[in-house]
Amino acid sequence: MENQPETTVRVHRRIIIFPLPLQGHINPMLQLANLLYSKGFSITILHTNFNAPKISNYPHFTFISVLDNGPENEHFSKSSLIEFAHKFIFKQEGADELRVQLERLLASGKDEPVSCLITDALWHFTQSVADSLNLPRLVLRTTSVYSTIVYSSIPLLDDRGYFTLDQSHWEEHVEEFPLLKVKDILKMGIKSIKDPYAELIGDMVKQAKASSGIIWNSFKELEETELQRVQIDFSIPRFLFPFPKYFAASSSSLLEQDRTVFPWLDQQLPKSVLYVSFGSISQVKEEEYLEIAHGLVNSKQPFLWVVRPGLVTGSTWLESLPDGFPGEKGRVVEWAPQQEVLAHEATGAFWTHGGWNSTLESVCEGVAMICSPFLGDQPLDARFISQVLRIGVYLENGLQREEISNAIRRVMVDEEGKEIRDRARAWKQKANVSIIKGGSSTESIESLVNYISSF
Ligand code: UDP
Repeated sequence: MENQPETTVRVHRRIIIFPLPLQGHINPMLQLANLLYSKGFSITILHTNFNAPKISNYPHFTFISVLDNGPENEHFSKSSLIEFAHKFIFKQEGADELRVQLERLLASGKDEPVSCLITDALWHFTQSVADSLNLPRLVLRTTSVYSTIVYSSIPLLDDRGYFTLDQSHWEEHVEEFPLLKVKDILKMGIKSIKDPYAELIGDMVKQAKASSGIIWNSFKELEETELQRVQIDFSIPRFLFPFPKYFAASSSSLLEQDRTVFPWLDQQLPKSVLYVSFGSISQVKEEEYLEIAHGLVNSKQPFLWVVRPGLVTGSTWLESLPDGFPGEKGRVVEWAPQQEVLAHEATGAFWTHGGWNSTLESVCEGVAMICSPFLGDQPLDARFISQVLRIGVYLENGLQREEISNAIRRVMVDEEGKEIRDRARAWKQKANVSIIKGGSSTESIESLVNYISSF
């Protein structure tokens, strides 16, 4: 894995890339941009000033600011996703502003014609703009293939009344998706097909289907069955490969990554540390935060816990931790170099919210997981990790100290945990095989490059 793309023969074609300004969307899009650059394409990144990527980390790209003229590097923290969506994704003038920028880029690209636009699948208005300019648009879907299928079935799930079922049905299995329980569907955060979040997803699905192709951060062997199934609904060209195997996400981190974790990790025994992070958006209540802290200490395993500013609702950093916490065995940081932590030999397991980037990073490093999903695709990923891949444990009944310490010991200490960890290592191996010459991921990248070159 390399951080800087190798220089290769330039193909004198440009790709315009438009990430959604959230950490879990910026990371995979910039990994993809690096990969396409390494294949010879020139890259222009359109970005908002809100959560702007660190331009100085990408001297090989051109950056253009669009859609907002707010202060640079304002960070997403507590505003809700829907507020965010209204500010950017549903922005009335967004389509016109984008069209003006794209027209300018197309007109100025005589020596280096623009091949296509690649946007986050959630930028729904970009399809009509691209169509009006005769510019092919591909989408990056930052979830799993499996979640894409479930999202595409939200109208069906709504028709069948799943979103209004009460607690007495939570443990029942969903007929249309037998892997899932009703509570997983409810945890996605949709209350009805008419709520803004469902509209956002519905729009995303529709505009992704209308695009010239879809790209996932995954790999064929990981989601073989799902790939068969997704082609029914998404009959557009489909590409997938594991981004973390090519480029680390660290260069697009919006928060400073605390590298002092490495001397501490170096002192720990191999495979002994539990790494804990719930990503860039999830929030816990103060009571849950305390349950986590006690659960960690009670497990008696060394741990490295990311407590991001804003993680605990209504509380500032570390304010309400128990006396003496984290103790001798623990380390707490605001933000970590996650992928490198997962790759460190002291890391034995990852307690995650099951965001798809975190999941793939864990799979690529062969690290077993404990999953505590909060919203969106996370409960779907938790089922997939625990029951399809069988490389983790799903903490499905909330955050309680006893269940937490039991789950940690189950994955890190018990005999059952050894099997889970062995399987996780086997998945890493499969990811490695997929990226060698002739491997499924290598072939998928080649076909993406050929496809883009054909425009
Ligand atoms: N991340 C990081 N440091 C941390 C925690 C997370 O660099 O301390 C990165 C992580 O490597 C991943 C991204 O933030 O690439 C989180 O994306 P994910 O899809 O897992 O979750 P989200 O933040 O979108 O909920």
